[in-house]
Amino acid sequence: MKKTTGTDRSITRNWRPATQAVRGGTWRSEHGETSEALFLTSGYTYDDAQTVADRFAGDAEGMTYSRLQNPTVAMLEERIALMEGAEACRAQASGMAAMTTALLCQLETGDHVVAAKAAFGSCRWLVDNLLPKFGIETTVIDSADDAAWDAAIRPNTKVFFFETPANPTLDIVDLQYVCDLAKAHGITTVVDNAFATSALQRPLEFGADVVAYSATKLMDGQGRVLAGAVCGSEQWINEVLLPFQRNTGPNIAPFNAWVVMKGLETLELRALRQSENALKLGQFLEPRVPKILHPGLPSHPRHALAMSQMSAAGPIFAFDVESRERAFAILDALQLVDISNNIGDARSLMCHPASTTHANMGEEARADMGVTEGLLRINVGLEDPQDLIEDLDQALKSAGL
Ligand SMILES: *Cc1c(COP(=O)(O)O)cnc(C)c1O
Repeated sequence: MKKTTGTDRSITRNWRPATQAVRGGTWRSEHGETSEALFLTSGYTYDDAQTVADRFAGDAEGMTYSRLQNPTVAMLEERIALMEGAEACRAQASGMAAMTTALLCQLETGDHVVAAKAAFGSCRWLVDNLLPKFGIETTVIDSADDAAWDAAIRPNTKVFFFETPANPTLDIVDLQYVCDLAKAHGITTVVDNAFATSALQRPLEFGADVVAYSATKLMDGQGRVLAGAVCGSEQWINEVLLPFQRNTGPNIAPFNAWVVMKGLETLELRALRQSENALKLGQFLEPRVPKILHPGLPSHPRHALAMSQMSAAGPIFAFDVESRERAFAILDALQLVDISNNIGDARSLMCHPASTTHANMGEEARADMGVTEGLLRINVGLEDPQDLIEDLDQALKSAGL
């Protein structure tokens, strides 16, 4: 395959993120297709025995097996890396495959991990259950408390692991502070950037080492496929992540990679418009509900910080209506917004985290991270915001708010 445009990497590297979103990583076959080709193949054939021997020896470039390389997956990986400002990226089968790979590839028995307590339920499961099973110590902290990061460091601390904004309480981590602190102690920061994506926040610019994604969310953006990605330096990806990934196989299917690549073309447009819609809905809800957690609103404790490290607050926020009964009544009254635990979709979706995404973790851990019985999380989509406001208005009224 050859690149019919953008063959010169010294030029393409410098394209801005919006250009990378539609152009980055494109390799065209001899047919010159405009849309990227989908290579649904597990294996490859070779003209002669020496060619494949050279490839396996690492002496020649070229595909050998789709657990190791696939042209469609490689296009997605290069595009994500270019959008993120990362040297390298490897796509994964899902967000959780990405998180598990990013952590396990670099940790061993005796290491210590400091993680944010506000996190996606399965991310907390990794920290609370999986890592300790292999003799890796973990400490969970209030990620919005800068001093807590400092206080949790031990001589064997190897990794800081957090989301910002966090799922579902929208806690904001001070990226510059935490990344600087990690650097000073030789700790690797792994940032789960699923809520923001590179369209709204680029953690590497603040000194993060590794950015890990659920690409199922805003990157696909249309609720179609599970996907994930891990970005980092070329050296870290090649020497730390790749040996683990190639031999354990959390790889993304080429079809799913292709779907995500199509999603990336419109990522920035969607992320900005959905953020705008989410802000309008948040402003409508704020005087109507007992509590709202929205980094785009001045009432958020870290609003100024969020706005200094993000270009917009994102499509997701949460609000508290003080009881499960009331939360369920609101969900059940919705006429437009769907009851769904997915996020990042172009459709508006709402869920009750305590009984869904965070049901597994137990009442105590839930209470500790602020996932209350009355908490509702909403992903605001691309619908007309006035229709969304009217739907929420009638749903709140029917629940007595
Ligand atoms: C959804 C999500 C994940 C897991 O991603 P999957 O693609 O569902 O495996 C991880 N982290 C965050 C913040 C998420 O929202």
